[in-house]
Amino acid sequence: MTSLSGKTQIDWAAFARALAPVEVITEPVLIKKRSRDFFWYSPILNAALKTCFGDLVARPKTPQDLAHVLAQAYAHDAPVVLRGGGTGNYGQAVPVDGGLIVETTAMNRILEIGPGFVRAEAGALMADVNAALAETGAELAMFPSTQDIATIGGFVAGGSAGIGSLASGPLREPGNLLALRALSVEAQPREHVFTGADVLQIHHAWGLNGAITDVTMRTVPRRDWIGCIASFDSYADAFDTGYAVTQTPGLTPKLLTTVDARIAAYFPRLAGHVRPDTHLMVTLISAEERDLLQQTITARGGVLDLALTDDDRAALNLPHVFEFSYNHTTLQVLKADRTATYQQIGCPEPPSVDDIRALAPALGDDVWMHHEFSRAGGRVYAVDLPIIWFSTPERLAEINATYERHGFTVYDAHSWQVEGGGLKNADYRHLAWKKRMDPKGLLNSAKSAAWDRVKALPAAEIDAMAVTSKP
Ligand SMILES: Cc1cc2nc3c(=O)[nH]c(=O)nc-3n(C[C@H](O)[C@H](O)[C@H](O)COP(=O)(O)OP(=O)(O)OC[C@H]3O[C@@H](n4cnc5c(N)ncnc54)[C@H](O)[C@@H]3O)c2cc1C
Repeated sequence: MTSLSGKTQIDWAAFARALAPVEVITEPVLIKKRSRDFFWYSPILNAALKTCFGDLVARPKTPQDLAHVLAQAYAHDAPVVLRGGGTGNYGQAVPVDGGLIVETTAMNRILEIGPGFVRAEAGALMADVNAALAETGAELAMFPSTQDIATIGGFVAGGSAGIGSLASGPLREPGNLLALRALSVEAQPREHVFTGADVLQIHHAWGLNGAITDVTMRTVPRRDWIGCIASFDSYADAFDTGYAVTQTPGLTPKLLTTVDARIAAYFPRLAGHVRPDTHLMVTLISAEERDLLQQTITARGGVLDLALTDDDRAALNLPHVFEFSYNHTTLQVLKADRTATYQQIGCPEPPSVDDIRALAPALGDDVWMHHEFSRAGGRVYAVDLPIIWFSTPERLAEINATYERHGFTVYDAHSWQVEGGGLKNADYRHLAWKKRMDPKGLLNSAKSAAWDRVKALPAAEIDAMAVTSKP
């Protein structure tokens, strides 16, 4: 077998034989499919990554299979990229150096459910974990809006927050991620268990410092959630009411999203269910809090158009309200028009409608706001994931500069290296663990701009750099 990626000198047919009895995928068309994620949300990432392919796919079913695969990768000096559902937005799972793609979705057992926690293998789908928890009266403290395709391992390695983060905080909030078990890439892969604050050594490292085998996450008692959509005549009113809902005693939503009317026009399934041409506030609230929610919305000039239990929703054949939140909002627009893209913007704290009012006229007609409210350390913050009608990289830079001039922070969604986005800096704790867990630098190394600079140093020295350069 020749190298599909054109980047490796490995005899892939011999390599595939050495992986037996682990299942492999050798058909080029299927390897190419598994070399992609949702990077195409960004025209910049699309241009950079669309021709990057792996050479072979392995599908381990157990941690023992995975250890065998990693040992072979070590023996052959093969670059390795872990892959769950492939729903990441920054090309995290794209094999930029070619090599082996390890798809975890067959390693998917739910191992243990106990008071306040669930432990599942890395390839378990988030929706399956939630379904198993529902039987016991519990639910994940948070999950991404992609729960039907995303794996629990991919979420903790590539994601950051999701449905539930308004109640429970992002993944990195102490107590949300309870333990992560990961294998090193060595002649005999070793297992390391990260617990307590140490889970941050591997969370959001994009799979470059260990192959996660199982994840223990916090669960919370399941409540009777109702999916609500309210409409407003101005975006400022939707935003202001959204923040007010998060601050009203007696209201404890787990999701709160606000969406500009021009974006809402791309939600055809809501036609006839919400007032047309209005700005939306989307929320998930406990059934017993419905009346107070309605009063809060009405007092601010809004209309509660939809308030649905899961059964109501199924009867109307409507999607979950969270399919109008997080990056699903962007997806609804992209389904109709691939020239749209988005950005990730932190709002000044605490969230204030005055900041939104001051910013809006400066942005231009090619930027449509969409905010997610979340909570960290007890305080509520807002993140804008605007739809941007992409024209040129220069115009995108100008939009970023406009946000920054108004005191907002840009977490660039158009970078395929981990330092370019939310982290804004090298996380040397991640890289020190990479040195320990992946001494040959085979795991997704191209995704760190800083790795080449530090890879020759001892792990302790890389760790020490974290003190002077906080991520
Ligand atoms: C429509 C849409 C909505 C989204 N909504 C959200 C959201 O609400 N919240 C959010 O945080 N993100 C969101 N995302 C981004 C993405 O869905 C999440 O990051 C998701 O949880 C990733 O899971 P996955 O299984 O698809 O991971 P993948 O995309 O397969 O992988 C993500 C990263 O994790 C690494 N990885 C995967 N498995 C392992 C493993 N076992 N060990 C080590 N590394 C591993 C990969 O190498 C890659 O770097 C969204 C994306 C889309 C397209």
